[in-house]
Amino acid sequence: MISSPEAINEIFRYDVPLQKYTSFRTGGVAEIFVEPLGTSELKKVLQYCRGEQKKIFILGKGTNLLVGDDGVKGVVIHLGGINFKNVERNGRYVLSGAGVNLSKLIRTVALSGYGGLEVLAGIPGTVGGAVMMNAGGKYGDISDTINSLTTMAFDGSIIKHIREDVAFAYRGCNLSEQIVIDVEFQLNESKIEVVLEKMDEIYSEKQEKQPLGTFNAGSIFKNTSQYKAAELIDQANLKGFKVGGAIVSEVHANFIVNTGNATSTDILELIKIIKETIKKKYNVSLSEEIHIW
Ligand SMILES: Cc1cc2nc3c(=O)[nH]c(=O)nc-3n(C[C@H](O)[C@H](O)[C@H](O)COP(=O)(O)OP(=O)(O)OC[C@H]3O[C@@H](n4cnc5c(N)ncnc54)[C@H](O)[C@@H]3O)c2cc1C
Repeated sequence: MISSPEAINEIFRYDVPLQKYTSFRTGGVAEIFVEPLGTSELKKVLQYCRGEQKKIFILGKGTNLLVGDDGVKGVVIHLGGINFKNVERNGRYVLSGAGVNLSKLIRTVALSGYGGLEVLAGIPGTVGGAVMMNAGGKYGDISDTINSLTTMAFDGSIIKHIREDVAFAYRGCNLSEQIVIDVEFQLNESKIEVVLEKMDEIYSEKQEKQPLGTFNAGSIFKNTSQYKAAELIDQANLKGFKVGGAIVSEVHANFIVNTGNATSTDILELIKIIKETIKKKYNVSLSEEIHIW
């Protein structure tokens, strides 16, 4: 029997299905699932994980994540607690909790007359997940507007980072074994209508090019300066290729869509087939952008 410390006993949930926590809507259960209210509970959860040698998984909105059908052995920490959802603005500086919905933050900031985050319009997920992934696209990445951020290391210590301390790269950063708690953005004063217009423009572009409104996890593979994964997959005639309920999107070849009854095993098999085909045809080894648990 798994023991949990008294103080956080009531927030421990066992065998929690993770499907509804991922945009793919697939995957097994979490052995333990916790939603700490704030940093002090989070620290206690981490102490428990260390004491019991439990593997730690941090879950944002699950929009870049594939959870295997066998689920996750360890503790899934979801920053859905109220204290991770605060947003405070001080002039051009905005402090956001890691659990804040990125789209909501972008809109709130735009409506207060500040620009910078609108380049991320249409990217689903939480602020914490976006920082870990350095989410972005052709108009810019989240790291462009970060001034500083706070993390809690897996040992429970709080670390304040200025932007220059963190090495952000294409769809990632070097914050390993750390949980993003809050992020301070430095924005530019701007006209509300200009920011909103840019947001609409970017969102419309995404609506046209991505299978929005389906169960997917965004781009499966990373691009490089030599190739765009979507172009290679398209050229290899893989659009519409299916394994079980998982299909290579007809709209965007780098998206896999769960048509309703896909399992994570179907998606993993489809990923394997795509990689093998692209390697054979073009001698290119695609690497996954999505994180796989
Ligand atoms: C339709 C669609 C379109 C998309 N378009 C884009 C796009 O244009 N550009 C782009 O970059 N991405 C895109 N994505 C991918 C995804 O939205 C981003 O990567 C997003 O930032 C992930 O945030 P999340 O909260 O869902 O993270 P999750 O998927 O929950 O987690 C992703 C990773 O971050 C870690 N993580 C999450 N929160 C924290 C935290 N607080 N502290 C530490 N680690 C954490 C997780 O452990 C995991 O390893 C798209 C996805 C979809 C479904």
